[in-house]
Amino acid sequence: MPYINIKITDENVTKEQKLKLIQGATQLLVDVLDKNPATIVVVIDEVSTDNWGIGGECVTALRKQKFGPPMEGYSYRCSRCNFEVVMNEAIIDFEIGIAEFEGRYFEKFMPVLACPGFNQETLEYVPD
Ligand SMILES: [Zn+2]
Repeated sequence: MPYINIKITDENVTKEQKLKLIQGATQLLVDVLDKNPATIVVVIDEVSTDNWGIGGECVTALRKQKFGPPMEGYSYRCSRCNFEVVMNEAIIDFEIGIAEFEGRYFEKFMPVLACPGFNQETLEYVPD
């Protein structure tokens, strides 16, 4: 009964990605060692970035150095088709920059964005 243990940092790995890891690791043992896939056990452990150290520093701190704080997301909904999406801070900042440049900016301004469904500016910010 082959056993494969994959340890990864806990950073929003999706269910689909985990399934691919399980399928891929299983297939690797089938291909290389000619094992029966029905007997192969794969366990994925997600380890907090606080508990994962590299070179004397925890991954939480390393991630902050490399990428800065995590991006914030803003909920947006289309008033016409109800399409909902979480917009990344970088997109909002970019649109705010344009509004400032065009003199449309005011305090607490949130840009209205194009809905992919209607291709019009119908995607509006939904405060929490
Ligand atoms: Zn829409």
